[in-house]
Amino acid sequence: MVIKSDESVDALVTSPCSDGGVSNVVGAENKDPVENGKEQKCVNGGMDICSQDESNLVKYGELIILGYNGHLANGDRGRRRSKFVLYKRNSPNGVKRSRHYVVRTPTSTQAILNSDQHSISYTMSRNQAVIVEYTHDENTDMFQIGRSSESPIDFVVLDTIAGDKNKTDNKVLASTISRFACRILCDRNNPSIARIYAAGFDSSKNIFLGEKGTKWETGLDMDGLTTNGVLIMHPSGYFSDGNATPGIWREVSIGGAIYSLRISRSAPVKGSAVEGVNNILQDGTLIDLCGATLLWRTAEGLKKSPTKEYLEELVDQLNANRPVCPVGLNTLVIPRRSGLDCNQQQPYVYLSCGHVQGHHDWGLNKESNFRTCPMCLKVGRAVKLCMGIEPAFYVDCGPPIFFAFDPCGHMATEKTVKYWAQVSIPHGTNGFEAFCPFCATLLEGHPGYVRLIFN
Ligand SMILES: [Zn+2]
Ligand SMILES: [Zn+2]
Repeated sequence: MVIKSDESVDALVTSPCSDGGVSNVVGAENKDPVENGKEQKCVNGGMDICSQDESNLVKYGELIILGYNGHLANGDRGRRRSKFVLYKRNSPNGVKRSRHYVVRTPTSTQAILNSDQHSISYTMSRNQAVIVEYTHDENTDMFQIGRSSESPIDFVVLDTIAGDKNKTDNKVLASTISRFACRILCDRNNPSIARIYAAGFDSSKNIFLGEKGTKWETGLDMDGLTTNGVLIMHPSGYFSDGNATPGIWREVSIGGAIYSLRISRSAPVKGSAVEGVNNILQDGTLIDLCGATLLWRTAEGLKKSPTKEYLEELVDQLNANRPVCPVGLNTLVIPRRSGLDCNQQQPYVYLSCGHVQGHHDWGLNKESNFRTCPMCLKVGRAVKLCMGIEPAFYVDCGPPIFFAFDPCGHMATEKTVKYWAQVSIPHGTNGFEAFCPFCATLLEGHPGYVRLIFN
């Protein structure tokens, strides 16, 4: 599988060029997209909603990046955060397809030059391009997602780094996420309908598909794919009922059509058209941007999900039962979040058996770092237990929370842990892997989780 990480060879480029699409913006996006270091709590397309009563807002849904347990490692800032709430805008900003035509020089075409006009340019050859014009649509709100910090991007998403995010040096050298990766159009008249499309409009309100980009005619229309593509997976069943099962990964086109996966992520030939599946996001739909995976939760589905406060209460209840280390006989306290310094009360789970204990050196093999469990004598690793506190990843409300992912030790309800252990998620060039939604650590062994046994 070839994943292009250098956008100088990105077939989807974001400003006009006449040579078939290899131009501009090389590395221009490596700066931190957060210009001001100030923390803003909730920003929606530039609108600060903190000053407003949330109950007065119509909520379409939430996008949550897999791999974060409630916030980014260095804190949420502005448009760069671990989750993004989509609210109905004060005035519609959606666009819809209107006319299209063939031009010889897209760079000098009025629709491209006009920065108030949304358009998509499909470069067919050196001297031919199809321009599809888009007009204002008062019935939809548009939200754009990508790596760019430019203003058309509502939700800035950078590549996810799995595991220990407390390291300060966690810069991704080669990003595979497109600067203008995808767009979501929400129906203002029916807020339960949100549709996803590959590619986003840049600051000039253009999308450029270069000569090498995958594109085709559909009747009288044009459509295409972005370089690394936008993959989606609708679960079957209802996510928030806890009984959903993972569905099949497919690719969504620039025009919002659904195709089977390409032979490899950035292969030039598109998959085959899939009937009976559409680009309307469902509760629990996963969106893979090649470098980060987003979970879509509908406003309806979230109503059935636990709140952060409820999850914290579950932790408090567990701690109120005063679990004890069978070796040190000291009381254990489960932290609500990781990153706290190791203390005597921190519980550890033995991954081979599930026994929960405090920190001690009994049974430690210093060479392998494996431990023999003093309760059952099974040998394996012991890791810190920590609560999965991002509520959107839960498929039910439990309780109890007696399960943890192997090997990271994030705790959640049984159904939640078992659901995510079944979900294969695109992972770099290695195909598909199951990982912990709270930290993006790849699950190990089988089944990839452990039932906790408290003393
Ligand atoms: Zn044991
Ligand atoms: Zn984890």
